[in-house]
Amino acid sequence: MIKPNMNYANLKDSYLFFGIAQKTKKFLEDHPGEKLLRLGIGDVSLPLCPAVIYALEEGVREQAEKQTFHGYMPECGAPFLREAIAAHYGARGINLKPSEVFVSSGASDELGDILDLFDRESTALITEPAYPAYVDANVMAGRKIVHLASGRENGFLPMPTEDLRADIIYVCSPNNPTGAVYSREQLKKWVEFADKNGSVILFDAAYEAFIEDKDLPRSIFEIEGAKDCAIEICSLSKTAGFTGTRLGYTVIPEKLERCGMNFNAMWVRNRTTKTNGVSYIIQRGGAAVFTPEGQRQIRENIDYYKRNAKCIMSALEEAGIWYTGGKNSPYVWMECPSGMGSWEFFDYILNEIKVVGTPGAGFGKCGEGYFRFSSFGSAEDTRLAAERLKELLKKG
Ligand code: PLP
Repeated sequence: MIKPNMNYANLKDSYLFFGIAQKTKKFLEDHPGEKLLRLGIGDVSLPLCPAVIYALEEGVREQAEKQTFHGYMPECGAPFLREAIAAHYGARGINLKPSEVFVSSGASDELGDILDLFDRESTALITEPAYPAYVDANVMAGRKIVHLASGRENGFLPMPTEDLRADIIYVCSPNNPTGAVYSREQLKKWVEFADKNGSVILFDAAYEAFIEDKDLPRSIFEIEGAKDCAIEICSLSKTAGFTGTRLGYTVIPEKLERCGMNFNAMWVRNRTTKTNGVSYIIQRGGAAVFTPEGQRQIRENIDYYKRNAKCIMSALEEAGIWYTGGKNSPYVWMECPSGMGSWEFFDYILNEIKVVGTPGAGFGKCGEGYFRFSSFGSAEDTRLAAERLKELLKKG
C-alpha cells in the first residue's frame, strides 16, 4: 500500500481561525441582528488602486489581440517586472540584478515552496510569535523545528544566543502578529549569526511598506553581508491590496551559496520545473505598483490603514495598556489586562463590546496572554471598536 507523507499526522489543527469563526458564529446565533466590529482580519478592505486597475485592463486588452497576445510567461517572472522591482530596490540604495528577483504568486506560496532548496535534515529556527505557516510547512517536510520565544522583556524581538544552532532561520519584520520591527543593529546580529553558522535567513518582508521610521530597515539587504546569507520574501498583498489578485516576489542573491551549490541557480531550476510563471495580466498590474503614480496611490491606502492603527494605539494608551506594533506595521499587539489569557480576552471583548480580534496564543506558546488587532478594517468600524475598547479597559 502507498505510504502517505506521514509528517502530516504531526500537524496540529489550526485552531486559531477555526476557533474564531466558531465563536463568532455562535455569538451571532445567540444575538441575531447584532453587528460585530472585526479587528481580527489579516485581509485588506480597500480596493486595488486606479493605476493597477488601468494596467490590468490594458493587459486584458492585449490578450484580446493576436499582435499583443502573450502565452506562457518566463517562469521566473516577466523581465519588465523583474527590472521594475530591481529598480525599486535600487532607488533605496540596494543594488540587485533583475535575475536576482523572482516573481511569485504571493509570499505564502514561496514560504512553502522555497523549502525545496534545503536538505530535509536541516533544522528550522522560528522566531516566535510567528505567522503559523512557517511551522506547518516545516512539519509537513518532517524538519526539526527550534522555537525561539520572545516576550515583552525584549519587545517581542528575539535575538540569537551563542548556544543557538539552526540552518534555516525565519525572521519576519515588521512581524505578524506583533508588529515589532528589528533595528539595523539587531538585524546585523542575525546576519552575523547566520554567517558564522553557515545558516540561511528567510526574511519575510510582507509588511515592509508599513515602515515609516527612516532608520528602520525595510529589507535584510540593507545589512552588510546579507547577500551571503539571506533570501527575502515579499508580497504585494498588504502593500498594494493584492490578497485576492496574487502577486509577490522573492530575492535570491547570486552570491548565496552553500556546499558548492548556488541557491539562485537552484531556484531557477526549481521554478522552470515546478511552475509556468505568473499570469501576464497580473504581472502588468503588479508593474504599475512600482510606477511613481502607483507608489503614490498605494501610499494613500497604507496611510488609511495607518490611521486605523493609530486609533487603536491611542485607545490602548489612554487605557494604560502595554502594546507594541502599530507605528510601523498594520498590527497592534497588546497585553491582555488583569492577567487574562488570550482566549479569555477574546470572549470578554466579544461579549462585552462586540469586537473581534485575534488571540495571541494562536501564534506560538509565547503569544499566550497577548492579543492582536489588525488595522485592515474600515475606518468607521475601527474608530467605534477603539472607542468601546478604551471605555471597557478603563473600567478595569
Ligand atoms: N507572510 C506574512 C508574515 C503574512 O502575514 C502573510 C499574510 O498574511 C503572508 C506572508 C502571505 O502573504 P501572501 O498573501 O502574499 O501569500
